[in-house]
Amino acid sequence: MSFSDEAQSDVPLLSEKHSGIPDFLLEKARKAKIGVFETRTKPKASRNRLPVIPHGVEEHVFFDALGELGTQLGAENVERNDKPLKDGWYEVDPNTHDLMAVVDEEELVPSAMVYPGSTEEVQQVVLWANKYHIPIFPISMGRNLGYGGAAPRVRGSVLVDLGRRMNKILDINSQDYTCLLEPGVSFFALHEAVKAKGYDHLWIDVPDVGGGSVIGNTVDRGVGYTPYGDHWACHSGLEVVLPTGEVIRTGMGALPGNNTWQTFPYGFGPYSDGIFSQSNFGIVTKMGMTLMPNPGGYESFMYTFQKEDDLDQMIEIIRPLRIGNILENVAQLRHVTQSLAVSGQPRTKFYEGDGTIPEDIVHKVAATLPAGDHCWAYYGMSYGPPHIRRYKLDIIDAEFKKVPGARRIDPATLPEGDYFWARDRIAAGIPDIHELRWVNWMPNGAHIAFSPVSPIRGADAKKLYELAKRRHNEFGIDLFPAFCVGLREMHLIVELVYDRDDPKRRKAVLDCLRNLIEDAAACGYGEYRTHLVLMDQVAGTYNWNDGALLKFHEKLKDALDPNGIMAPGRCGIWPKQYRNRGWEMTKTSGENTQGDGVAPTP
Ligand code: ADP
Repeated sequence: MSFSDEAQSDVPLLSEKHSGIPDFLLEKARKAKIGVFETRTKPKASRNRLPVIPHGVEEHVFFDALGELGTQLGAENVERNDKPLKDGWYEVDPNTHDLMAVVDEEELVPSAMVYPGSTEEVQQVVLWANKYHIPIFPISMGRNLGYGGAAPRVRGSVLVDLGRRMNKILDINSQDYTCLLEPGVSFFALHEAVKAKGYDHLWIDVPDVGGGSVIGNTVDRGVGYTPYGDHWACHSGLEVVLPTGEVIRTGMGALPGNNTWQTFPYGFGPYSDGIFSQSNFGIVTKMGMTLMPNPGGYESFMYTFQKEDDLDQMIEIIRPLRIGNILENVAQLRHVTQSLAVSGQPRTKFYEGDGTIPEDIVHKVAATLPAGDHCWAYYGMSYGPPHIRRYKLDIIDAEFKKVPGARRIDPATLPEGDYFWARDRIAAGIPDIHELRWVNWMPNGAHIAFSPVSPIRGADAKKLYELAKRRHNEFGIDLFPAFCVGLREMHLIVELVYDRDDPKRRKAVLDCLRNLIEDAAACGYGEYRTHLVLMDQVAGTYNWNDGALLKFHEKLKDALDPNGIMAPGRCGIWPKQYRNRGWEMTKTSGENTQGDGVAPTP
């Protein structure tokens, strides 16, 4: 096994490190780690492309500037990215590159990492970047895996790793059900803090894997699985360092002496928070978040459906139930191939051939699972005391059983380690890491998502499913689809799993995705979130009225960031210094992420 030093070091605990694992998940994390290293064949990386220097800055100027920043932040808080790239794994994730690289891993790398310890120090970094015209890229914890992780869009940017030293929970208000956080607070940490305070009446909401930053996930519009799953909708109040170094507080935070920053998100005047999510207009240094009241009981349920064609009818059944709040959390309909992969076994255990895994093999293995063979599995949760749950569960049962062959799986028949119980915990706001398992489907497993938004209609689900299936077959990629119903819309989430050490497979995945995005946009479906290398293409699909929205974003960019230093290119928004120089990544860019330099700022 390669990387034996990494494989043997223990999983850091939350009590030791802001990004560590809570005690109650330690054993599970140790097991997850074994799975990761057992399927790793990738040799230890050497660095071939050193030094990494930001575009538009001379090498000696850059190194002098880094020295100057070191005198402000402390030399130990400024680090060059010039050592071999250690991949680690989810719990020991790198801030030097994208752990799930889909292009050459030395392409999307920062030149240096800096660790500010306060909002004032973030301002210092921003002023420094403006002085030398050095691009910077903020991350909270860098666990945005599948979307770029810690990597910057522009090679050689200086990574502003906020989480390492800014990781305090500033407040948990048990009367208002709110909290105020710094960027390095993970879902793990927030959950543990609420528990430690004995606030049984408060719940948090967590995504599939709970190690990411609450702020990082929220500003990238990530989701969770309680009724508070739309994280962006549930935040209240931001503190932001603008690209020119000023600090603002949004909403009620702008009113000195207020006590409603975390309870009334809007304040007075234009609602400016929106421009700080999925953008490059500022660095969020504090964020308020609302917390859910403990509903007084909960009960997970699972149904299976036998035929691929059941999808259409199921989605039609789900829509009124979800909008009517009988289905109370994100409704998830997952394909059987995922049921196999989430067992954590490599694909080779079931099938060694090329192309997609044959359906008869999938069903043969699925028949041996505790829930039995199926084509679709629905995971849901009902909240409230028993009599309230019963009312809703009876309606759900009657509706779901209209689909011939539908089966309600009795949770009592599912063993303790079954995936069902991980979904149960997540939908109750208890963080988990079970979801990491399906990445072991491939050696050196990585994933990247196709995630178009559509109406909750059977016809749309069918169209998207067929589109995804056709392209996956064309590129020989196993299909892992899940339909996730928000409230009035549905995302199809397809995770493409690949060997990140195999350039041919990386290319196949990227080509497949570029086609999928194009096909979906041609039918009126757009991505809700995407990886760094796909952002230009996705932003380009939102092009109504001759690209009026992107032009508006560029106007904002030029006004807020005249030197073009803040996360250039993120979400397809390029500062004027980079425009018309071939920085945008398209179908023909291949592995190259870089354009022809930057124009000097007058
Ligand atoms: P997580 O650790 O929660 O998965 P990341 O720190 O990787 O999240 O953040 C996801 C993306 O959101 C990053 O790539 C970055 O561009 C953006 N981002 C994260 N934190 C901030 C922040 N505090 N201010 C501005 N943008 C941020």
